[in-house]
Amino acid sequence: MTVGVIGFGVTGRAVVAHLGAIGQPVAVLDDAPGPEQVKAGEALGVEVEHMPRGEDAIAARLSGVEMIVPSPGVPVGHPVFAAARRLGVPVRSEIELASEAARRAGRPALIAITGTNGKTTVTTLVTAILQQAGLHVAAAGNIGTPLIEAVAGGSDIVVAEISSFQLQFTELFHPAVSCWLNLAPDHLDWHDTIDHYAAAKARIWANQTSGDAAAINADDHAVAEWARTIPPGVRRITWSVEGPADFVVSGGRLVGPGGVGLIEVSELPRAFPHDVSNALAAAAVATAAGASPDACRSGLVGVVLLPHRVSLVAEDAGVRWYDDSKATTPASVLAAVAGFESVVLIAGGRNKGLDLTPLAGTVPPVRAVVAIGEAGPEVAAVFDRLAPVRRAASMDEAVQLAAQMARPGDSVLLSPGCASFDWYLSYAARGDDFAAAVRTHLRKGGAPC
Ligand code: ADP
Repeated sequence: MTVGVIGFGVTGRAVVAHLGAIGQPVAVLDDAPGPEQVKAGEALGVEVEHMPRGEDAIAARLSGVEMIVPSPGVPVGHPVFAAARRLGVPVRSEIELASEAARRAGRPALIAITGTNGKTTVTTLVTAILQQAGLHVAAAGNIGTPLIEAVAGGSDIVVAEISSFQLQFTELFHPAVSCWLNLAPDHLDWHDTIDHYAAAKARIWANQTSGDAAAINADDHAVAEWARTIPPGVRRITWSVEGPADFVVSGGRLVGPGGVGLIEVSELPRAFPHDVSNALAAAAVATAAGASPDACRSGLVGVVLLPHRVSLVAEDAGVRWYDDSKATTPASVLAAVAGFESVVLIAGGRNKGLDLTPLAGTVPPVRAVVAIGEAGPEVAAVFDRLAPVRRAASMDEAVQLAAQMARPGDSVLLSPGCASFDWYLSYAARGDDFAAAVRTHLRKGGAPC
C-alpha cells in the first residue's frame, strides 16, 4: 500500500526520505512542482506528480492510497482533505511518523513544545539547557529540521516545537515530556472554533502514560483547564510568574521544586515578563528531562536571543526601536508591550481571520499607533479614541510617522499582530525591512526620508 505525500517542500522531502528508508511506496503530489522539486524528487528516486484538479480527480488518484501525509503548508480548503475524507483515507502528520519511528528504534526521547506563542523560543532554551547537561540533543520543528529527519539523526533527545496543525492529524504521537505554553486565538482558518484549536493542542499529551511528564503554564487559565485531560499517571509540572507552582519567581530568582535556586532574573539575557515565563517553562521541561539546576542556569544565561522577537534595532535621541515582526497574533503583541513603559506601536499586515479588538488592551503603555498593511483600517478602528493613529502605505512611511510621534523615553515597536504576506514573503523579510528603514531614517539624521 502506498502513502500519499502531499506537498514537496522541506517536510515532504523528509517524509519521502523516511518512507524510502523503511521501504514504503509513496505517491508524491504537489500543486505546482517546479524544476527544483522535480530534481529533488529524482534524487530521492520518486516522481513528483501534479496534484489533479478538483476533489473528484484527486479522489480518483488517491484510490489505493493507504494514508496521506500533508505538509504544514497545505491550506485548509485544499480539496485533498475532502477527497481523503470521502474515501476514508486517514490523514497523518509527519510528527506521527516521527514519533512511531522513535518508538520502534527505542530512541531518541521526544520533548514536544506547543502553545500559541513562544514555541520557538522555549524550544531553543530547552535545547540550550540540555546541551549544558551534556546530552546529545537536537532541536526540530516548524522552522528548522523536520522532526522526522531529526529522529534519524542519532541524538539522545529531540526537542520539537509542534503546531496545532501537526497535532490535529495525530493518533499515536507520544512525547516523553510535553509542554503547553499558552492558548490565544490563532489559526481560526484551520480550526473553526477556539475549542477545536485547543483540542488539537491537547493531543500533545493524549498518548502519554506513567513515566512521562506534562509541563503546563499555571498562569494560562485555558491551559490549566485543558490540563484536566492529561492522562492519569502522567507527572504534571507547573510554572507560574504569578502564583504557586513547581517553578516560580521568588526573591528575584527563578526557583524550582523544593525552593532550589536556578538563576537570578537579572542574569537572564532579557527579562520581559514573557521572557521570565519562557525561562521558567524551559527550566521545568529540561528538569523533567533530567537537567540539573546548574545546567538550567548555564543554558539560560548563555542563550542567544532570537531575531524578530522584540529585538532592539537602534537607539537614537532617547528613542529605542524594536523589531517584533514575529508577533502575528494580538496575544503576542500584548505580551510584547507588557515589557515597556511608553510605546509607539506599528501594527497591521494581513489579518489571519482573528479578532483584533484585544489590541485595545495595549493602551497603555501604547500611546500612539501607526497602522500598516491590509489590516490598517481595522487596526485604526481598534484604537479610535484610545490613541492617536496614523496610516502608512509603506514601511518607510511607517517609520517616518512613528519617528514624528515618538518622544524621548518612548520605544517604537513593530509588533504587527498580523501576518506579513500582504507586503512581504515572510515575517523575517518584514522585520529586516523595518530595521533597514529605521537605519536609513536615522542615517539621514532622523529627517523625513
Ligand atoms: P512561536 O514559535 O510560537 O511562533 P516565538 O518564540 O517565535 O513563538 O515567538 C513569537 C512571538 O510571540 C514573538 O513576538 C514573541 O515576542 C512572542 N512571545 C514569545 N513568548 C511568548 C509568551 N510566552 N507569551 C506570549 N507571547 C510570546
